[in-house]
Amino acid sequence: MADSEFSFPRHAVIIGAGAVGLMSAIHALDQGLQVTLLDFNEAGSEEASSYGNAGWLSSHSVIPPVEPGMWKKVPGYLADPLGPLSIRWRYLPRLMPWLLRNLASARRERIRTTARALRSLAVDARLLHQEVAQRAGAGHLIDTSGVLHVYRSRRHFEADAFGWGVRNELGIQWTELEGDALRRREPDLDPAFGFAVHVDEAGHCRNPGAYMQALDAYARARGARRVQGRATGFRIEEGRLKAVLTEDGELACDAAVISAGARSRQLAAAAGDRVQLESERGYHASIAGHAQQATAHTPMMVSEFKVIATQMDGGLRIAGQVEFASFEAAPDWRRGEIMRDIALKLFPGLPRELPASDVKFWLGRRPSTPDGMPCIGYAAACRDIVHAYGHGHIGLGCSARTGRIVAQLLAGQEPEIDLAPFSAQRF
Ligand SMILES: Cc1cc2nc3c(=O)[nH]c(=O)nc-3n(C[C@H](O)[C@H](O)[C@H](O)COP(=O)(O)OP(=O)(O)OC[C@H]3O[C@@H](n4cnc5c(N)ncnc54)[C@H](O)[C@@H]3O)c2cc1C
Repeated sequence: MADSEFSFPRHAVIIGAGAVGLMSAIHALDQGLQVTLLDFNEAGSEEASSYGNAGWLSSHSVIPPVEPGMWKKVPGYLADPLGPLSIRWRYLPRLMPWLLRNLASARRERIRTTARALRSLAVDARLLHQEVAQRAGAGHLIDTSGVLHVYRSRRHFEADAFGWGVRNELGIQWTELEGDALRRREPDLDPAFGFAVHVDEAGHCRNPGAYMQALDAYARARGARRVQGRATGFRIEEGRLKAVLTEDGELACDAAVISAGARSRQLAAAAGDRVQLESERGYHASIAGHAQQATAHTPMMVSEFKVIATQMDGGLRIAGQVEFASFEAAPDWRRGEIMRDIALKLFPGLPRELPASDVKFWLGRRPSTPDGMPCIGYAAACRDIVHAYGHGHIGLGCSARTGRIVAQLLAGQEPEIDLAPFSAQRF
């Protein structure tokens, strides 16, 4: 490490042990750092967004979830509390600055620029996950059979032409499946869906909760220390980090990573950066025990309903929805029921009266910035603190490369991609 600005041995506290924190820990260990993982939840906890997502490891998911002309739809989002995107009225004033910036980022040229930056982070997601998963003894959890984007017809696919055009410009390839070809691949899917594209370069994780537990066990087996607790800030003296502050006292260290998902904003402020970060709530319904009658052979995004259906080890998972409400607002489980009902529409082979015991609902909080790009890079107040959060809809997939980059920053090396678009100082 002779060419590093940092002296070794170096001890990093990684705040938050979701996908991003765990990947950062593993890659920091590879770089020879001493690592402490700090989280108030257990690894694989249902509270982390990394637990209940749709499992996609999709290097082609580079179009931010904004659409040109989206501002016209905002009144509808407010009026329909159970629509695929909704905003709770009471939360609107708080959300407004984030929302305005989000709407401003919906211009076509901005989307192109964002997609280019996200591609640099997401590319090879499946391969990077395979590599770490295999080391962690969890290679069986990573499936490499690609993913589908399903439409009613070619006409509906063509309505998405802008996004696919941008992907094409970035060199992303896909195969079209129409009519019988789609039926052969997905015999359980309602035949009303007659067109799909298959993206071969993508993969998925068959059980994100178990994957997180495996990564955590692997990091600990290699010497990472696990501390149960909640970070509240930092002690910085003369520009150098001395300790992470927690509710139970200080953790002395030379470096820290903020990877606390949707709860990262206050910690970022303590590190000198005012970032715009919202908890973008999503839901899933998981249906156990009916895979013989109805399954998604390939994970599929169904544009019409804005959901992803993935056959997980524990059942068929339908995930999606965007709800803006305060962090602590109670879950609206009617949204879980909507996910379940979409499953019944997509897969006619499911029994119409699903026993309640077969269905489980989950609420998750995506850490989302208004421009759809994460924050990755050194903090303004101190280069010993690294930002690593804000991956929104693609945080599982992007966690592997993010972890590598975080480790490069902790070691004082040049990061492998240009981090300017991801600067926490851009807000
Ligand atoms: C419905 C849904 C579907 C999704 N589908 C996909 C998908 O298919 N593919 C994909 O790539 N992404 C998907 N995502 C997004 C993905 O789940 C997130 O982007 C990703 O999990 C974020 O990981 P993280 O490590 O940043 O945060 P988290 O997984 O939320 O982890 C943050 C951790 O920090 C801890 N923490 C918080 N505050 C503190 C503190 N002060 N001190 C200590 N610890 C703290 C928390 O306890 C938690 O364990 C989906 C999300 C949702 C909601």
